[in-house]
Amino acid sequence: MLAWLSKNIFFPLWEIKDGAQRQKYLRELCATQWLETEVLQQQQWERVQKIVEYAFTHCPYYRSRYASLGFDGKLRSWQDFRNLPILTKRDIRDNKANLLSEAFRREELVSAKTGGSTGTALTLYFDQQCQELRNAAAMRSDRWAGWDIGMKVAAIWGNPPVANTFKKKLRNVLRDRVIYLDTMDINDASIQRFIDCWRRERPRMIFGHAHSIYILALSLQRLKIRDLHPEGIIATSMMLLEPERCVIEAVFGCQVTNRYGCEEVGLIACECERHAGLHLNIDHLIIEFLKENGTEAEPGEEGDILLTDLLNHGMPLIRYRVEDRGVPSNRKCGCGRGLPLMERIVGREADFLKRPDGSLVAGVSLVERTLTAIPGIEQMQLLQNDLHRLLVRVVPDSHFSEATQSNLQNELQVVFGSEMVIEIQIVSYLYQTSAGKYRFAVCNI
Ligand SMILES: [Zn+2]
Repeated sequence: MLAWLSKNIFFPLWEIKDGAQRQKYLRELCATQWLETEVLQQQQWERVQKIVEYAFTHCPYYRSRYASLGFDGKLRSWQDFRNLPILTKRDIRDNKANLLSEAFRREELVSAKTGGSTGTALTLYFDQQCQELRNAAAMRSDRWAGWDIGMKVAAIWGNPPVANTFKKKLRNVLRDRVIYLDTMDINDASIQRFIDCWRRERPRMIFGHAHSIYILALSLQRLKIRDLHPEGIIATSMMLLEPERCVIEAVFGCQVTNRYGCEEVGLIACECERHAGLHLNIDHLIIEFLKENGTEAEPGEEGDILLTDLLNHGMPLIRYRVEDRGVPSNRKCGCGRGLPLMERIVGREADFLKRPDGSLVAGVSLVERTLTAIPGIEQMQLLQNDLHRLLVRVVPDSHFSEATQSNLQNELQVVFGSEMVIEIQIVSYLYQTSAGKYRFAVCNI
């Protein structure tokens, strides 16, 4: 009953109060997802022409940088677009004021900070319409996982927002309908409180950081709690490791929807109900995969991800190097949606560890492989502060033995070479970032 009221009464009322149009945008996006890929790409082409011209006209940074290259702001072909310079995190940090559109006053824009756990903290600005469209795109893909407006959800991540005013509490009860587990504070008592709350409130979806959901799943397994059955789980904000996905799905008895997004542009890609790759949000973005030599990665090949935001007029981001790596795809998804697929996210650039000879090792993939190959490891984190030294933090499980440790040592020695000093530390938890996320591999060199 409350779910119905929330969806049909409270949510629309809040929209009117906020002057927002998310429900209208959601309806539009739910329709466009079924368009042919070529139609969506044509729409993408029209939008990119507009945003590039807009940036050239209204943002001093693009105006001077593009003009110095002899570009007049008018795209005539996709090749023109691919010739545009790449925007780095450093460019954003050094030119923040000049990247903002002169058409907005600063106070009209919504700002957000990126975590900076990979080194460069950024402040970004969005216009209001962009925010609402982004929310609608996230809601569209939430629906692929079984969610609907008004449905009660459990959110599992670090530092959840605290409903500290009557207004926020009311909004949570009537509209957002969320129960939280703060993964910055996981212990038997907080898990038990969460389970009690779950049994009372009966949420139907789980949202959370992939590894945080995994930690909850492990606790439930240990406590032999078997009655927490959501209809869907959305794992976001960090890499979902295959071995962790298996544990989560077994404990909760439903499939995990893997999602990729970032603070800078919102939702980038998400699995649909087929779970066969991630559909790219090309309504709102151009997503490029670039190899080291600057050419486009072929389907199945790894590349650096560049993002062009087709929505944000407050602070346009054009060919922004987000410092993540992923694999494009040319497969068609059986669901019939026109949104193209990417195969997977490989990790952040800062997750790549270095061998003593300077060559790179994809840290997250290595952790994923090791968790599958060596029994006895519940969680693992690789930290590198020195070219010749690797610290491995291991949370053991009940199968842990001396063989676990020696197998792990051997495996890593083969990957990094005999010159690498590998130190294994047995610990009871992994470090989290200040935002409550986990990083499986951290290279500080
Ligand atoms: Zn699909």
